[in-house]
Amino acid sequence: MQLNDVTLIREEAYVNGQWVKGDKSFQVLNPANNEILASVADMGVTGTRTAIAAADAALGEWSGRTAKDRSAILRKWHDLILENKQDLAILMSEEQGKPLAESLGEVAYGASYIEWYAEEAKRLYGDIIPAPAADKRVMVLKQPIGVVAAITPWNFPNAMITRKVAPALAAGCTVIIKPSEETPLSALALAELAERAGIPAGVVNVLTSTDAAAVGGELTASDVVRKLSFTGSTNVGKLLMRQCADTVKKVSMELGGNAPFIIFDDADLDQAVAGVMASKYRNAGQTCVCANRILVQDGIYEAFAAKLKQAVDALKVGSYDVENVTTGPLINEAAIAKVERLIADATDKGAKILCGGTPHNAGLKYYTPTILTDVDRDMDIFSEEIFGPVAPLYRFRTEEEAITMANDTIYGLASYFYSRDMGRIWRVSEGLEYGMVGVNEGIISNEAAPFGGVKQSGIGREGSKYGLDDYLEMKYVCLGGMK
Ligand code: ADP
Repeated sequence: MQLNDVTLIREEAYVNGQWVKGDKSFQVLNPANNEILASVADMGVTGTRTAIAAADAALGEWSGRTAKDRSAILRKWHDLILENKQDLAILMSEEQGKPLAESLGEVAYGASYIEWYAEEAKRLYGDIIPAPAADKRVMVLKQPIGVVAAITPWNFPNAMITRKVAPALAAGCTVIIKPSEETPLSALALAELAERAGIPAGVVNVLTSTDAAAVGGELTASDVVRKLSFTGSTNVGKLLMRQCADTVKKVSMELGGNAPFIIFDDADLDQAVAGVMASKYRNAGQTCVCANRILVQDGIYEAFAAKLKQAVDALKVGSYDVENVTTGPLINEAAIAKVERLIADATDKGAKILCGGTPHNAGLKYYTPTILTDVDRDMDIFSEEIFGPVAPLYRFRTEEEAITMANDTIYGLASYFYSRDMGRIWRVSEGLEYGMVGVNEGIISNEAAPFGGVKQSGIGREGSKYGLDDYLEMKYVCLGGMK
């Protein structure tokens, strides 16, 4: 791995401002070729307890600083990330597999949350409410919730961390991050830059570990940890919510999705194809907001499928450093097996393969970008998150049918539709049971907008002016005896 600054490759965990080795270590692999990239500290229960104590000890000083102070340090961290964006992107592509252009995009996107919350830190207003009695005053203070645990996935190794840590730090909280065991290097590089930015010891801690259950168990059982923010699978999210019940912790959950992408017959088909390409095939289909079910109205079904095929045929599969590559490997062999299972189930039940449908010869974990047609609701692929480069096309006739199909899922994260009809745009936007709706747009996430889901896709929002609320407690102060 060729970095300008090799000191961004850290193999120790980061606890209380110290780089610690731990008793064991684990290997980080490049998913494209299984090359060993690093051997990282494997932390367990003891390290987790140390990190909780450190975050607790650092809380008073950090939350006691002025917002302006915290803002300036966050801004410094943001600037350092952008100064090192090329190295951070290479590190990410090496451990995660996405094309370099996408990694560069994620580093900038991740940093944008730090910039946003550096600004929001200074606008954390309380409230004075007209009291119902003349001798009283009713005031509301916003205070940091306390020590925060953040457990993050591998598909966005940088941004899923900054989206949690930036608002937490802005609010005055301290944080313990447990990154995915697949992508710990991006998390450790962020900690290295946090240290250089002057974030004090104990305010940000990173526990790398292969024993997620042990670390998660300690974090959720602790009375000191007042909040858990989790991004990952719905099953693990539910388990962690149950674990948080005993200490009545506040939770934020960004869980699975099953995004519908509806193309109505009045849509601009070229724009819709571009939207599907961006939403479906980005990160080889491994995002929780990826189009998972593409619903196409009867009259344009064939025309749309043909146009989409042209675009998919133009994708270039390969390692992140190959020129013009668009589609990297999947994260591991289990991901390939899942894609194969879903395609086999669909084709057994009558779906047709328009293109792809086979592993790709670029390497063990590569899958050929695929389109399935004649897909319907009794196939497993209708209700499961694919997390791979496979676009299933469903057919519908009426607007009502499209909305019913779109909402026929336990999930409610992102949804998309393409239409030019103003009335339809309002009706469908209101009818979709989702936290987010993209209208004539396939990429909807940015730091100014509230990202999050309804139903079993999650609780809470990340980004925007609303994202701070997840890290704050409201305190009501009643001032009486004024007469
Ligand atoms: P994904 O399918 O995206 O890997 P997971 O939910 O398995 O989703 O993983 C997301 C994060 O949750 C990772 O950091 C992983 O290590 C962590 N994790 C997995 N199982 C547990 C658990 N039992 N307790 C705490 N964290 C867990």
